[in-house]
Amino acid sequence: AREIHLLRYPDGVPTPDDFSIVDVPVLKPLDGEVLVENTWMSVDPYMRGRMSPRKSYVPPFSLNAALEGHAIGRVISSRDPRFTEGDLVTSMTGWRSHALLERDYLHSLPDAPDIPAQAFLGPLGMPGMTAWIGLNKIAQCQPGETVFVSAAAGAVGSVVCQLAKAKGCRVIGSTGDPEKADWLKNTIGIDAVINYRDTSDLSAALADAAPNGVDVYYENVGGAHLEAALDNININGRIAVCGMISVYNNREKATGPRNLFRLTAQRARMEGFIVTDHWATYPEFVREGIELVRSGALTWRETVYEGLEKAPDAFIGLFDGKNTGKMLVKLAE
Ligand code: NDP
Repeated sequence: AREIHLLRYPDGVPTPDDFSIVDVPVLKPLDGEVLVENTWMSVDPYMRGRMSPRKSYVPPFSLNAALEGHAIGRVISSRDPRFTEGDLVTSMTGWRSHALLERDYLHSLPDAPDIPAQAFLGPLGMPGMTAWIGLNKIAQCQPGETVFVSAAAGAVGSVVCQLAKAKGCRVIGSTGDPEKADWLKNTIGIDAVINYRDTSDLSAALADAAPNGVDVYYENVGGAHLEAALDNININGRIAVCGMISVYNNREKATGPRNLFRLTAQRARMEGFIVTDHWATYPEFVREGIELVRSGALTWRETVYEGLEKAPDAFIGLFDGKNTGKMLVKLAE
């Protein structure tokens, strides 16, 4: 078996030298244990926060130990009567080819054989749930509102766009890539796309795309995106602060938005959230999500790196926009 270890906490943008691949023995399950061969693993921007000695809402990753994250795998040997060989399961033991687990750390995949398993790491997994909670519960988005989504072609953003469209909202998305812009406009079907790399004035570009202002800003990026959203936020607007990927590799604290007073002027609200606090409602989300997929209202793309040794590159690629939709690593058939 093989696993990826973190050798040191990255300084700034992570590099492949921060990681190593390590051979380890495959252990045999004892009573109550299940041996899983991972088939897919997820890399996510939040993992950058754990690659730092600073304590955040999740503890730092340990150095010289296997990293962790969402994964899907197949049971290859079980000493728990609830799991049998061949079962597909999800766990938090990504970044390794095999994992020995007790049942509390294993979950069966929802029963939806018509949907590819890896979708449960993307639009029907943690990123999709994040989109759903942020848009509905935190931003309390209403039909007919204007919604601005940053990192709109990513795993979370692309689901936010589609949930908002399904609600009958006007949706504006931003991305840094023309092909992703094309996908958002022509396949996802949002109303306007801003390529943030093509504009020196994001605030003016957003004002053009949203002449009646923005009711909901779904924040994934931070920096100039947040300032542009604040400039254009409507009275009683809501900003759901899901993430700020543009600051994750900063060595110094980022400067705050210069126009935060707009919250007061516009009686607007800005609220951060962490999806795991809302996990009790995952079954409700997944029921709704599967229906949306089956009705054609929720589609997705994925960018796949093949082989465990590519996991660090896949992770680093998130900060370079290498993914359209969910960034995944395929470990086995
Ligand atoms: P994505 O699939 O959106 O991947 C990241 C994307 O961000 C890239 O593809 C790139 O797209 C864009 N990006 C990267 N660097 C920058 C930058 N400096 N400026 C602008 N855009 C950038 O990732 P996820 O969907 O998994 O995550 C999206 C956000 O949601 C992140 O901020 C993440 O931390 C947050 N999150 C928060 C959760 C919570 O519980 N609060 C849970 C899950 C995610 P492009 O090519 O368009 O630039």
